[in-house]
Amino acid sequence: MMEIDGSQGEGGGQILRTALSLAAITGQPLRLTRIRGRRPKPGLQRQHLAAVQAVAQICAAEVDGDELGSGALYFRPQAAISGDYSIDIGSAGSATLVLQTLLPILARGGGPSTLHIRGGTHNPLAPSADFIQRSWLPLLKRCGWQIDVTCQRRGFSPVGLGELQASIAPLQACIPLELVERGKFLARDAEVLLANLPAHIAQREAATLKHALHWSDHEIRQSSVDASGPGNCIQAQLDFAQVTVLCSAIGSTGKRAEAVANECARTVKRYLASDAPVCEYLADQLLLPLALGAGGRIRCRSISEHCRSNAAVINQFLGPVVELGEDGWIQVEAWRG
Ligand code: AMP
Repeated sequence: MMEIDGSQGEGGGQILRTALSLAAITGQPLRLTRIRGRRPKPGLQRQHLAAVQAVAQICAAEVDGDELGSGALYFRPQAAISGDYSIDIGSAGSATLVLQTLLPILARGGGPSTLHIRGGTHNPLAPSADFIQRSWLPLLKRCGWQIDVTCQRRGFSPVGLGELQASIAPLQACIPLELVERGKFLARDAEVLLANLPAHIAQREAATLKHALHWSDHEIRQSSVDASGPGNCIQAQLDFAQVTVLCSAIGSTGKRAEAVANECARTVKRYLASDAPVCEYLADQLLLPLALGAGGRIRCRSISEHCRSNAAVINQFLGPVVELGEDGWIQVEAWRG
């Protein structure tokens, strides 16, 4: 029985999600306590509950504690079954975080799978669907993962109702990831996404971003997008030979357009202030795919609390495969499971 304290380190949903993925992959029963113990609203929220129920369905698990608000979970999985799964989070909870929980399980299954997930696709404090498609997934593909993700409809808080579709082939020959330099700078641009909101919001955000970053007009697009409710997001993309990084900021009621644009600009500047290729978000999101693949060596500016907590959960399950070194260097050994 793997006993995990959900309030360790970062104390957020990632501890739960990584533990669920690894319980399903290793077949080990899991007892998780103090779930999301360091969050203002601890316990299972809709997104987390959807992840628990989806993993339980994929591996016919026996589960106790799978209720909204629950602070403890018992989870006894059986072998995961490849297939076609449809998950409705039932809120604007992040569909991408549920996707990241399920992809490693299905990729290690015996046959092809598809996933359809309904929920939020552009949420605060989560990777956007574009981040998954343009930044995270290309690195996994470089290592041999055969996964395709499309975003059929964007979903913003509070309405949600975005749609993600993924097709997953079984993981076969993997190669290690060596990502310690950015390589040559290739291109940059930013997109202001606006759904069902007045156009002046996108105009002010584009103007503020242009001023803050000293980018030219043609590098900042404004796009009116289809969604079931109001939504706003800015995504600045930086392309280097070895990595693509997506820096984003999400608009919300009561947050001024200028504040959204300045937040996005700060993220871009923070990334450009160092020469490390891996952004703070990619770092924690690469650990599990690397450990389940052929391992790798990556370098980020500094190691985040998310990264430390995720490494701790992975090492608790798989043995000491993730080593967090000095100055943002991370070494991941392939798990020989
Ligand atoms: P948690 O807070 O534990 O639920 O985990 C949140 C996850 O979302 C972590 O993997 C973060 O790296 C990721 N994340 C948060 N904000 C962003 C962002 N702006 N871009 C990409 N990933 C993000």
